[in-house]
Amino acid sequence: MAFVTRFAPSPTGPLHLGHAYSALLAHDMARYEGGSFLLRMEDIDRQRSRPDWERQILDDLAWLGIVWDAEPMRQSERQPAYDKALNDLWLAGLLYPCTCSRRDIEAALSAPQEGVDLPTGPDGPVYPGTCRNRMNWERTFPDGHDRPRDATLRLEVACIGPQHFQHRIDTPDGGWHSYAGYVETGIGPGGAKGLIEFTPDDICKQVGDFVVARKDMGTSYHLSVVVDDAEQGVTHVVRGADLSEATRIHVMLQRLLNLPTPAYHHHRLIRDDNGKRLAKRDDARALAKYRAEGATPQDIRRMVGL
Ligand code: GLU
Ligand code: ZN
Repeated sequence: MAFVTRFAPSPTGPLHLGHAYSALLAHDMARYEGGSFLLRMEDIDRQRSRPDWERQILDDLAWLGIVWDAEPMRQSERQPAYDKALNDLWLAGLLYPCTCSRRDIEAALSAPQEGVDLPTGPDGPVYPGTCRNRMNWERTFPDGHDRPRDATLRLEVACIGPQHFQHRIDTPDGGWHSYAGYVETGIGPGGAKGLIEFTPDDICKQVGDFVVARKDMGTSYHLSVVVDDAEQGVTHVVRGADLSEATRIHVMLQRLLNLPTPAYHHHRLIRDDNGKRLAKRDDARALAKYRAEGATPQDIRRMVGL
């Protein structure tokens, strides 16, 4: 099989050692496999994305010796594709508008079950479903109603039918379970590797109704990444283990949108001297700083353990 991978930075800050590791690893894998390495600028956050950061990122990557095999894709130019995917999900009756603020969600979660450990999904606390029953009529007859444009939209995971889970396992009591799955070659949820499977029940309890479009963006990280990985023909996603919990969301969206599921390789995270993982704001670890101090690309490879 052809090997196509990508590096997908958000141009909201400088690349640091963690990004360098991710980009170099993906690039090395693509070269080793005789495949392609692509770039994608994840600039859906218009407030925080800046062309200056994009230029700096491209410059740092080229300095590292990374060669990309096509013009970088820019998410800010992809809204029509996101709209189409959202329309499909809307017409399938899977979406509902949500007007909850973060504070509303926290209040709804803490009120009845003081002191109980609440399930946390890839995007934080599992959504309590406050807005789920509003506008039910619209969802029963979605084609009679245009998708609301300036609204946050959530996907009702309990509405995903078994036809969207590709495996079916018969149980001894005469019943059956459905599963969806993907291949993980790195660090999956809880460190698992190999075929990762999850059930509709896992999605409901551990992920909950996730956001597919944000009011201020017209899309979301999850939706964009799935639509774009398919458009770029990505066969292997290489990215940090901090995103391995989100992969179930991505696989579910691929199944709902009829898109192929790539293999996933989630890699270890680069940590600072205190064992904390590097964040965008850790300018102290910015590649630009090491470059200014005279480091070579080989030095960077050594620092990240490649
Ligand atoms: N844009 C994301 C980030 O900067 C990466 C998304 C992905 O690789 O799926 O962390
Ligand atoms: Zn809500």
